[in-house]
Amino acid sequence: METIRYSSNIGVRASYDVIVAGAGPAGICAAVAAARNGAKVALVERYGVVGGNLTVGYVGPILGMVGKGTMRDELVRLLGVPDNDMIGITGKAHDFERAKLVLAEFVSHENIDVYLQSAVYDVVKEGDAVRGLILATNEGHFALMAKVVVDATGDAVVSYLAGADIEKGREDGLMQPVTLEFTIDGVDERKGVICIGDVDEVKLGDERFLDYCKRCADNGLLPHHLAAVRLHPTINSGERQVNTTQENGVDITEVESIFKADLSLRRQIELLMNFLRNNLPGYENCRCKSSGDTTGVRETRRVMGDYVITAEELAAGCRFDDAIVHKAEFIVDIHNPAGAGQAEEKIQYCKPYDLPYRCFVPRKVENLYTAGRCISGTHRAHASYRVMSICMAMGEAVGIAASLCAKEGCSPRELDVKHLQQVMTDKGIELFD
Ligand SMILES: Cc1cc2nc3c(=O)[nH]c(=O)nc-3n(C[C@H](O)[C@H](O)[C@H](O)COP(=O)(O)OP(=O)(O)OC[C@H]3O[C@@H](n4cnc5c(N)ncnc54)[C@H](O)[C@@H]3O)c2cc1C
Repeated sequence: METIRYSSNIGVRASYDVIVAGAGPAGICAAVAAARNGAKVALVERYGVVGGNLTVGYVGPILGMVGKGTMRDELVRLLGVPDNDMIGITGKAHDFERAKLVLAEFVSHENIDVYLQSAVYDVVKEGDAVRGLILATNEGHFALMAKVVVDATGDAVVSYLAGADIEKGREDGLMQPVTLEFTIDGVDERKGVICIGDVDEVKLGDERFLDYCKRCADNGLLPHHLAAVRLHPTINSGERQVNTTQENGVDITEVESIFKADLSLRRQIELLMNFLRNNLPGYENCRCKSSGDTTGVRETRRVMGDYVITAEELAAGCRFDDAIVHKAEFIVDIHNPAGAGQAEEKIQYCKPYDLPYRCFVPRKVENLYTAGRCISGTHRAHASYRVMSICMAMGEAVGIAASLCAKEGCSPRELDVKHLQQVMTDKGIELFD
């Protein structure tokens, strides 16, 4: 690539104890937890609304479980999802429109300055230490400085810019497909099937629903790669959350691929709407109510930390002395990076597992935490802990940790983890058996 030289003086807008980059499930919990623990916080988000996949990504239901007493429970309640509807891999999706206000209220705290429509554009570094972020905004560039930065951007933008160790995808480099979710309404609840995913045995008449969809694909009524028709219920009667479009071979961290993926996925919504209306009892009069404002990204960068957790450890229900997320539970859910359906024939179930503090502390970089789907783990492990309940618990833990670093004037690597665990358990967060 041809290069040009560009330099400018950038104003420092403000200084904080903690900056949280990214206002998805992990980021909002990190910001609120740090603020409630006394830190002065900046929450930075590239879009004009907070929530990440909870709002603009149209992702629901909030899946996975974690130990008692975390912010996940508070958020599920605020979003109006009955808790007994949120068990295991079933559950009802929340209302995305309502979530935009609920989550904005959630982060509106006297200790938090929220910077919307502000994208992290670069990091300010001193040696290995991150000292601040440069934001690209409608006003141009400015810097925010902080004692500690939390990278909750999903795509690990801060860690990447800071020169952390990054991995992507499985051994052949392929990542899980991207998907554009959409909501339909007008479904006749007396007849309209619900299908939560590839493990669902639900029937249409005498036939397994997903086998019926596959047969439709064999008959040319549906492209084969869209035959896993996932139709989640939402908290609103007559609605379904459709998690079915998919585009393989996309790396969303490569800018050129984003528009191509979005266009293809939106065309798939049209195809699916015709299929649903013409082939599913109860769906004859459904209409597409709305769709994600942005392509849903399951997997991109994983930031290698002081510990790299594996799916085998998750499956075994691992315990760690430095656990900061306890009893996390979800299957290893790998949407096939190379085709339709699941990547693995046999679903890997996990016993309730812990995530250790070291997974959140990136190697080679100081003053930085990760939280959410970009933490340190293997491709297969990520396929379990990436769900939103677990990301929320991660964000909360890291937010408290970051506030303690700021208070005690230490870096994440120097923080006394036993003290962090004590503070968390004092707040009622279950961390030990
Ligand atoms: C199609 C799909 C279906 C899924 N289904 C489910 C499901 O049913 N249930 C479930 O629990 N999970 C599901 N997941 C997984 C889950 O949604 C994500 O793994 C989870 O949202 C990750 O949370 P996060 O906070 O790490 O990242 P995100 O939710 O991606 O949030 C990251 C935030 O950072 C912001 N950001 C990124 N870059 C920058 C930047 N440079 N500057 C400022 N801000 C930035 C983004 O705009 C975003 O708001 C699904 C994911 C996808 C894509």
